[in-house]
Formats: sequence, C-alpha cells, structure tokens
Amino acid sequence: MPDQLNFLPNLTGSFAKPAAENPTVEMVEAAYRHHDLHWRYINTEVGPENLGAAVAGARAMNWAGFNCSLPNKVEVIQHIDGLGESASVIGAVNCVVRQGDQLIGENTDGKGFMKSLAEIVDPSGKRIVMFGAGGAARAIGVEVALAGATHITIVNRSEERGQRLVALLNDQTSAEAVFEKWDGNYALDEGVDVVINATSIGLYPDIDARLALNIDSLTADMVVADVIPNPPRTNLIKDAETRGCRVLDGLGMLVNQGITGIEYWTGVTVDGGVMRTRLEELFGA
Ligand code: NDP
Repeated sequence: MPDQLNFLPNLTGSFAKPAAENPTVEMVEAAYRHHDLHWRYINTEVGPENLGAAVAGARAMNWAGFNCSLPNKVEVIQHIDGLGESASVIGAVNCVVRQGDQLIGENTDGKGFMKSLAEIVDPSGKRIVMFGAGGAARAIGVEVALAGATHITIVNRSEERGQRLVALLNDQTSAEAVFEKWDGNYALDEGVDVVINATSIGLYPDIDARLALNIDSLTADMVVADVIPNPPRTNLIKDAETRGCRVLDGLGMLVNQGITGIEYWTGVTVDGGVMRTRLEELFGA
C-alpha cells in the first residue's frame, strides 16, 4: 500500500498516553491494512494543557476524528461542538467524529461493551451487578440502562463514586439503580443475569489479582463480563468458566469500540477478527 500520510482527510488518531501504552494504534491500523483503507491512525501524546491546541490542529488539518484517553475524556468536551446521546449522559467522550465542519463527541466504550454483550444476551429486562464506578463503569452502566436493563446494582469500594453513578442512572435512565458498598467477599443474589467487572482489578501487570467475590455465588445461568483486555483471560473469567457461566472478555469490548469508531470515521464496517488477532499477538494471549 502506498504511503498516504500526505492524504490529509484520511487522518485519525488519538490524543492519549505514550504510544507504548496504546494498543489501539496497532488494532486500528491492522483493520485499515486488512481492508486496504488508505487511512492512518496516529497516536499523539497530549495532556490537558495542550488539548485545545491539539483539537484546533485536528480541525485545521481536517482529521476525520480521534480517540481520547484519560485524562482528556472530560476536558475535550469544551473544545468540540456537540455530543451524541450517550456521551452526553455519561459526561465523557472517548471518540470525536467530524461531521461537516463540526466535531461531535461520542462514547464508544459503552457501545463496544454493548456490542459484545448483545452477541450473548439482550440486556433488556435483565438484572445487572457491576463492580466499579469509574469511567468504564459509567459508560457501560449508561449503555445497558439505555438498552433496557431494569435493575443495576453498583458495587464499589468508594461510596461517593458509587453513589454518584447510581444517581446518574436513576436520574437519567429508566433503570432502577442501587449502591452496595464493597467490603469483604461480595455474594451475588439468585436472579442476577449479568455480572460485570468494570474495575481495573486484574489488569497487567497485576494479573494475579482477584475480585473480592464469592465464587460459589456464580451460577451457570449468569453471563460474566470483564473489561480487562490485557490479559483477556483474567481470574474472574477463569473462575466464571469453572462455574459454567457464559463469559465475555475485555478484548471484545476493545475491538468493538474500535469497530464503532472506524465506522464513524470511514463509514466502513471492518472485520473485528483481524483486530482481535493483532491484540492477541500484542498481549501474548
Ligand atoms: P477508573 O480509574 O475511572 O476506575 C477504576 C475503578 O476500579 C473504580 O471503581 C475503583 O474503585 C476500582 N478499583 C480499582 N482498584 C480497585 C481495588 N483494588 N479494589 C476495588 N476496586 C478497585 O478507571 P476506568 O473506569 O477508566 O478503567 C477501568 C478498567 O477498564 C481499566 O483496567 C481499563 O483498562 C478498562 N477499560 C477497558 C476498555 C476495553 O475496551 N476493554 C475500555 C475502557 C476501560 P474506587 O472508586 O473505589 O477507587
């Protein structure tokens, strides 16, 4: 494929942490190559102090869009022109999309999770227990609520953060959300349909870490999802499999948020398989 870096309308990228911490570059570029899309995805290290200038630069150069990682996901909102529905409810943007001369903020983290979940179970009418109340939990909580989950229990170590997410879900969606403080081994009630780890427990290099969860309370009719992409086979995933649960790893979420972003930017629905393969190579999965 010829070098198309001089083809400015086809630039995408991320305003993020250093490249070594950003497997998204490899994943997105693998999809561009596979589909012979003459696009580029460039990782740039941009902190809050330069975010406004970076967005102005992307605008000036006609970038089709870009991802934002922490700590830019909230700050970027003041530099763009509008928000999609779930990004507006979540209050955070991880994917910016050029529409005409406007930059619109979307949140594809929750959408990526939903795509993965929908392959196994429709969350409509379901009871969900989610561990965590940070950015990933907010994005997932809002999407599963907008998709019709009826009851969401937020289990979190910090009460203040957990209550804030519960208030958001109760105020802005039709789901009923409750908070449970996480101290000691949490036991799941019978009747829970979907269990989600949206904490950073188990992320490389702390791969031996385990959720404080009573494994015996997992039953074979539950779906267990983990947001951790590296390594994809976390202790939670392994434990859930031994209990006969259907499982979803964090690679699916990462791949699906990538597919959604590329769809926004290029209009092309890319093959998730090549993206997953590239991530598995990187993570040694
Ligand atoms: P945040 O820092 O916003 O939130 C972290 C959450 O984890 C908080 O709820 C925090 O609890 C909880 N937590 C962390 N350590 C512990 C612990 N030892 N015991 C109990 N709770 C703990 O992070 P994000 O929400 O942005 O990210 C969370 C994870 O999601 C990351 O590992 C990230 O890699 C992953 N992620 C995966 C994506 C994917 O596509 N697969 C996309 C986005 C994120 P407290 O509030 O008490 O501090």
